Amino acid sequence: MLNIPKKCTLCPRKCGADRNKEKGFCGGGQSVRLARAALHMWEEPCISGTKGSGTVFFSGCSLQCCYCQNYKISAENFGKDVSQERLAEIFLQLQTDGAHNINLVSASHYLPWVIDALDAVRGKLTIPVVYNTGGYETKEAIDALRGYVNIFLTDIKYFSPEFSKRYSNAEDYFTVAYATAKQMIEMTGAPKFDADGIMQSGVIIRHLALPAALNDTKAVLNAIAKLPKDSFLISIMSQYTPFYKAKNTKPLNRRISTYEYKNAINYAADLNLTTGFMQQKSSAKEEYTPEFDLEGL
Ligand code: SF4
Repeated sequence: MLNIPKKCTLCPRKCGADRNKEKGFCGGGQSVRLARAALHMWEEPCISGTKGSGTVFFSGCSLQCCYCQNYKISAENFGKDVSQERLAEIFLQLQTDGAHNINLVSASHYLPWVIDALDAVRGKLTIPVVYNTGGYETKEAIDALRGYVNIFLTDIKYFSPEFSKRYSNAEDYFTVAYATAKQMIEMTGAPKFDADGIMQSGVIIRHLALPAALNDTKAVLNAIAKLPKDSFLISIMSQYTPFYKAKNTKPLNRRISTYEYKNAINYAADLNLTTGFMQQKSSAKEEYTPEFDLEGL
């Protein structure tokens, strides 16, 4: 049975909102709010495959990064309230549409609702469930996902508390996100794929290279290199584009340079972090941001 938090501690911010009566820091209220549910081709190739990832975008977010490419939904809370019953139907519809997986994007502030919907489709949903998160999660939240989630796509965005405070209002971000990644790896084990190369279980750790943050990227990569070898995939992303508040904020108001990205990739290679995905810088496009138009809701 759905237990709506009266004093919310679903994310490490622990803002204490009574979710029955008010919205929390993340924008999450009493019912699940979604912006889009559709097949999506812009995840890593082992997630999107040839048919697409069945991506469900949740409105609101506990991080509120100042450069978020999805700010219309994460910060402005654009979306539509849906019941858990409708959420369960959406999962099954995406499966019928041919999705390789169900991809829950920024769902942490709706964890009890998501678990309720996944319980409702148990035995009917046969494709893997992907939990796609900024990495700012509590240990309890990840524990609660055992038996529900097969694949974690998780970020480690920053090492420096100064950066994480300035850009995402979360001074403790690295400590939390690193512990989260470790916990996810322990839960899923090493990545597994089907005969077509589509990921069935495991963890992908993502890092979005930011402008004027090369030393921080290197510190993140140093920490990632200490995780057990071959127990995860790494994705170093070059797609940063100044959206939202970053449009007018130095040094975030520019794309990363070719020098910065190449330097990050070479540094990762020197650390033997080569199992995963590196983008060509030329692939950075605004196409990564889908139209949030309530499709599929
Ligand atoms: S999930 Fe949202 S409401 Fe709950 S503690 Fe985090 S920010 Fe607050």
